[in-house]
Amino acid sequence: MSTEIQSYPKIFIGGEWVQPHSGRLIKSINPVTEEVWAEVAEADEIDIDIAVKAAREAFYGPWRRWTATERGASLRKMGDILLENAERLAFLETNDNGKPYRDTLGEIKRSAEWFYYYAGAADKIQGETIPNNPDSLAYTRREPVGVVGAITPWNSPISMYSWKIAPALAAGNTIVIKPAELTPVTSMEIARLSQDAGFPPGVINVVPGYGKVAGSSLAKHPLVNKIAFTGEYSTAQSIMKDAAVNLKRVSFECGGKAPHIIFDDADLDKALTVALHSAFRSTGQSCSLGSRLFVQRNIYKEFVKKLINRVRQIRVGMPLDKDTHIGPHTSKAQLDKTLQYIEIGKEEGAHLAVGGKQPEEFTRGYFVEPTVFTEVDNQSRLAQEEIFGPVLAIIPFDTDEDVLQMANNVQYGLVAGLWTKDIKRAHKFAADLEAGFISINTYRPIHWTLPYGGYKLSGYGRENGLEALHAYTEVKTVVVNLSDELPSDPFK
Ligand code: ADP
Repeated sequence: MSTEIQSYPKIFIGGEWVQPHSGRLIKSINPVTEEVWAEVAEADEIDIDIAVKAAREAFYGPWRRWTATERGASLRKMGDILLENAERLAFLETNDNGKPYRDTLGEIKRSAEWFYYYAGAADKIQGETIPNNPDSLAYTRREPVGVVGAITPWNSPISMYSWKIAPALAAGNTIVIKPAELTPVTSMEIARLSQDAGFPPGVINVVPGYGKVAGSSLAKHPLVNKIAFTGEYSTAQSIMKDAAVNLKRVSFECGGKAPHIIFDDADLDKALTVALHSAFRSTGQSCSLGSRLFVQRNIYKEFVKKLINRVRQIRVGMPLDKDTHIGPHTSKAQLDKTLQYIEIGKEEGAHLAVGGKQPEEFTRGYFVEPTVFTEVDNQSRLAQEEIFGPVLAIIPFDTDEDVLQMANNVQYGLVAGLWTKDIKRAHKFAADLEAGFISINTYRPIHWTLPYGGYKLSGYGRENGLEALHAYTEVKTVVVNLSDELPSDPFK
């Protein structure tokens, strides 16, 4: 990599690169070197206001005149462009975020699928005719909500832009994107690439900035019709208050503390491989992490022993090396949080089975060892609070009733997984687990076609699938009177 600092001094509004009002730059740290590797313009409330107005102008202007099929064609083009630029984008994302290159490359290639899926769906957004009364014609129209503000997190930047841009634009909205201040670089590239996809100016606007300034002013702005947010639930609460100003539509995808349940009748080899990956992927910086592993008591000892052996083989390393399994945390703050929870786990009396510190071979970088605590109490902080790091809490259980109760006894409800060959048990758990996405004999197979989102503090609304498309529309009811009779006149 060149040691020169990557510079993106302008923000993208109305199809043009403009100077941010503050003139300031956000410094982005490479989590391997702990040094500034990129600088990105910092937008404030004045820039947000200009961007929202540009988005609104595009919404009422050229974008409205595009047919849904034409919108789909540009989204398709955007998918192609992502694929053409996947290697370069993955390189930038890895430097900004620390996730291994092979993972960022895979994520970016998959992100193209979101554009393809919603490209195809754009001209299939339909209302209904309703058999309401023989003397009337009643129907619904699905209309775009208007200007969407997208506030995205730092753990999977390009995926999170794609999950929001593609359905929002397919439904005919325009968008203002406020990327996370920790990883703003690829948002600037997305802005640039969107120009080649042929969207009219103002349909996509990108305004990096800090959450409390740029994010909050986007959430408050009276001309923004919807906020689509991914991040912490406490931030969602603050956005919800800001968004109340004009009763914005909101969709929130927040954190999780997912139960991953291994019954004694499961295919244990498969379950082991998946449990391992689901707990440590992306250095644990994923809201859908299988971070609470429940293992049935009669297989507990053997299963946990094998799992710990596999954890010892996870390669923590340089994210650009192709052999690396997990890279560093994205930020010092997240590293500190993970290390703090490891201390909490020890203080609470859980058994530290493997990991528990920064690997000694690195003198710099936000690296941490994959860590497993066994004999964890489900009521402990280690089991109840989202760490967002590679720290797995393993909890033994005896009966179906016990594990169901423990699995649901948490404030989150994003995903849950279970491994069993008993079909009755599988469907009973699918019905009784309080989470928005249940996986049986697999774990969290996220896909553009499958609605994704949380119960409880894990969120509000759904992303992906047709559910997401509908969430970017308003339903309008139209009733036409077909009768020749005089209306009844109660005032006569
Ligand atoms: P984290 O604390 O792990 O960075 P956040 O939920 O704070 O996670 O960040 C997700 C996104 O929310 C980021 O783009 C961030 O800038 C933004 N954000 C943070 N605070 C606010 C806020 N008060 N209002 C709007 N957006 C915010």
